[in-house]
Amino acid sequence: MRKPFIVANWKMHKNVAESVDFVNQIKDKLPDPDKVEVGISPQAFALHSMKQAAGDSGLRIIAQNAAAEFSGPFTGELSLRGLRDLGTDYVMLGHIERRRMFGENNAAVNKKVESALQMGVTPIICTDETMVQKVVNGEIHYVFQQLMDVLHGISLDQIKKVVISYEPSWAVGVGQHANVALAEEGCRTIRRTIADNYTYEIADKIRILYGGSVNPDNIKALMAKPDIDGVLVGRASLDVDNFLKMANYLDED
Ligand code: PEP
Repeated sequence: MRKPFIVANWKMHKNVAESVDFVNQIKDKLPDPDKVEVGISPQAFALHSMKQAAGDSGLRIIAQNAAAEFSGPFTGELSLRGLRDLGTDYVMLGHIERRRMFGENNAAVNKKVESALQMGVTPIICTDETMVQKVVNGEIHYVFQQLMDVLHGISLDQIKKVVISYEPSWAVGVGQHANVALAEEGCRTIRRTIADNYTYEIADKIRILYGGSVNPDNIKALMAKPDIDGVLVGRASLDVDNFLKMANYLDED
């Protein structure tokens, strides 16, 4: 059974005081962490204070990015060693905005994934590509080549630990309605891609999230789909009431 995972991506919003205040407002109203996992990815400078504020509430604290190198002359970068020491639970890697605006390519994201796994900070690997046709053993398959490039060299043991997020470019940050059928199709194709390249058992266990214009009105329909194990939410996660409605989607009418 794959535990649902609701992730807020705050991007470049909220200062430390606002981030901590948010945690204080939500931490006693979160779902049972044995049933639903909930996490927030704030700006890097708020990670520590949020971790402290979250206490034993079960709220996961997630970094938005990290460098592949553990230390050295990389001005302005964020070290995975530092993130691990701080108790960061997950790190998002390869988000579409990192790719589009900061030129991250598959090779760079691949190195970061390897480093995160080595450092023991679980990567949430974001893939935004549309599917491509590929002939595998004489049959046409639809695959996410971008994802396979990012997973290059990742072993059977390592892949079990990652979370994948499908965030198609037509849906991220645009405020249109998320297309539930297309979201499911994308997540299902990712699961099949993992099964083809690793094993069915692993594909069955790995968590695949959907991101792109998720909000309190569409989260239930998305989460009802068999291959969508969670959501990654941008804009709609910035407001306490909306966030709590999504985190507690199982209880909402
Ligand atoms: C995101 O940027 O990860 C995202 C899903 O944004 P939004 O929910 O605003 O589309």
